[in-house]
Amino acid sequence: MYNANALPPDLLDELRALLGDRLSTGLAVREHHGRDESSHPAALPDAVVWPETTEEVSTIARLCHAFRVPMIPFGVGSSLEGHVIPLHGGVSIDLSHMNRILALHVEDLDATVQAGVTRKQLNAWLHDSGLFFPIDPGADATLGGMTATRASGTNAVRYGSMREAVLALTVVLADGRVIHTGTRARKSAAGYDLTRLFVGSEGTLGIVTEITVRLHPHLEAISAAVCGFPDVASAARTVIQTIQTGVPVARAELLDALSMRAINAHSKTNWPEVPTLFFEFHGTEAGVAEQAETVQALAHEHGGTDFRWATRQEERTQLWAARHDAYFACLQLRPGSRSLTTDVCVPISRLAECIEATAADVAGMPMPVPLLGHVGDGNFHLLVLTDPDSATEREAAHALSHRLVLRALAMGGTCTGEHGVGFGKMGYLAEEHGEALDVMRAIKHALDPYGLMNPGKIVETEPQDARR
Ligand SMILES: Cc1cc2nc3c(=O)[nH]c(=O)nc-3n(C[C@H](O)[C@H](O)[C@H](O)COP(=O)(O)OP(=O)(O)OC[C@H]3O[C@@H](n4cnc5c(N)ncnc54)[C@H](O)[C@@H]3O)c2cc1C
Repeated sequence: MYNANALPPDLLDELRALLGDRLSTGLAVREHHGRDESSHPAALPDAVVWPETTEEVSTIARLCHAFRVPMIPFGVGSSLEGHVIPLHGGVSIDLSHMNRILALHVEDLDATVQAGVTRKQLNAWLHDSGLFFPIDPGADATLGGMTATRASGTNAVRYGSMREAVLALTVVLADGRVIHTGTRARKSAAGYDLTRLFVGSEGTLGIVTEITVRLHPHLEAISAAVCGFPDVASAARTVIQTIQTGVPVARAELLDALSMRAINAHSKTNWPEVPTLFFEFHGTEAGVAEQAETVQALAHEHGGTDFRWATRQEERTQLWAARHDAYFACLQLRPGSRSLTTDVCVPISRLAECIEATAADVAGMPMPVPLLGHVGDGNFHLLVLTDPDSATEREAAHALSHRLVLRALAMGGTCTGEHGVGFGKMGYLAEEHGEALDVMRAIKHALDPYGLMNPGKIVETEPQDARR
């Protein structure tokens, strides 16, 4: 395998000739591209490049392939399982200069963008179109990174995740070939679904350079509500019934008492510091009123009190900004800590049981562990706030996370609902997928026989002789 910290001088020369000052080997730049938002230890790439077109990405891949040097696609590095960490060195391919919106088809409700466009950039650009892009991970991630991690967010319960949002892709393969997957048609039965293969592939199969996504029209009426509960399980039961009753709720987010305390301190709000659900309803005036009435009655049955409404745009913006800032707010519960962030997702009927058992498990932990999540999808997170200098705490945090994953798998769930595998969750894929993991390895081997694309993530494969 390629020897890290030894980028062949000829490769460096060729990349420099192609990119000029859009290549850097500076330490600060490499450090920035050597870690993500997780607590996983960093590792340095040997160089960072900033291509601007699919053709440049293709040339970079062709060169790295010829010299058998690893390539690690990089969006904004907001992932949480060590995804962008160059475990074997190599070239970090930063897509942030590929930030052009290429096409908007209002009448077909779709847009095509370069991979470095961020979700907020796209929505700001769509502002006057009557359309919006609903997928909203807490970070202002790139659409390339979101595609590669099959991301979702608070709206997924109604609008789906990147799995549903992506219609078509342009992808550069490990050897530099450029392929187009999918079309702008809403459905197709034409062969293997390569679009879905690349969605969630975390840069291990190729580099996504262009993405066509579905958009949605702004609906006539939107209202949001906040409701407190006596305990997290009662809040979860309310959500289960909401989903089972078929209420097309647009957002249903759970924050436990500790998360609410963190949000109040960070966002200067004064919500009651009890387990809380944040809801949002989209539709016609009458439809929204009906949805809200049904959910209010369900919440009441489960001990929910003090339904507070946010109907004005500014109130809703404040509410969801507070929710999106929850991760950073929670980190301030213990300044200097790093979060080990869990991400299980279970079938909706098992949600309350999983949360209740997890809350009991958390009660014995020596550090703050706020719980929050996109419970409308059966997905929730623990932020285990550990002292980065304490091996004992790190061990306790990993043990808690391990117990939680096993609990979720035993309930028919998954080790990661949205953050992805990176290298942090690799150890659980055999348990979750069984022999299907061998099929994943075979796919990886077919597309990247030298193991150059983001090596050491999702699946380990035996690279063929890597020397040129
Ligand atoms: C505060 C906070 C809140 C978050 N909330 C959510 C949430 O609600 N839902 C959710 O799903 N995630 C969430 N995340 C995780 C993270 O934001 C997502 O995984 C996001 O999709 C990563 O996008 P990125 O641009 O930062 O990608 P990066 O972190 O840069 O890369 C992620 C992975 O994708 C690969 N990649 C990046 N760009 C490309 C490309 N163009 N082609 C091929 N591969 C590529 C990388 O190699 C890497 O494996 C959160 C993270 C933080 C810090």
